[in-house]
Amino acid sequence: MSFQALPEVTDDTAAFWEGGVDGELQIHRCHRCAIWFHPPAPVCPECLSREVGPATTSGRAVVQAFTVNFQPWAPDMQVPFVLAVVSVDDAPGVQLTTRLIDVDPVSVSVGLPVEVSFLHVEDVYLPLFRPVSAASGNGAVSEEGTS
Ligand SMILES: [Zn+2]
Repeated sequence: MSFQALPEVTDDTAAFWEGGVDGELQIHRCHRCAIWFHPPAPVCPECLSREVGPATTSGRAVVQAFTVNFQPWAPDMQVPFVLAVVSVDDAPGVQLTTRLIDVDPVSVSVGLPVEVSFLHVEDVYLPLFRPVSAASGNGAVSEEGTS
């Protein structure tokens, strides 16, 4: 599968790119001022503390912005697909640029609840996201999501 240039895994980013082995979305957090931040770094961007490290999140997020790509930029690229910026529910201030899966591009909207689903490629686990309703299937799937 031709996807994208794979990330370079460093000591700082290992938890983020390899957390998927346990199905966990790991986001860096400062132990001094308690903020969450991304991308992972050895120093807190807020208080400059070095007491930082990865912490496990719920893996739930909300779509903040998205675009649908229809152009096959490479011969084997499958289109259309949805590129999105999502905010992680329990890591305030952290947004990830990702790809949405298991979703009809025309049904995506800002505010859509999504959850992480990892794509294992070589030695990394890319955090992609899919609609919560499609993944957990808690009851009937409705067109508009009305209850
Ligand atoms: Zn801090």
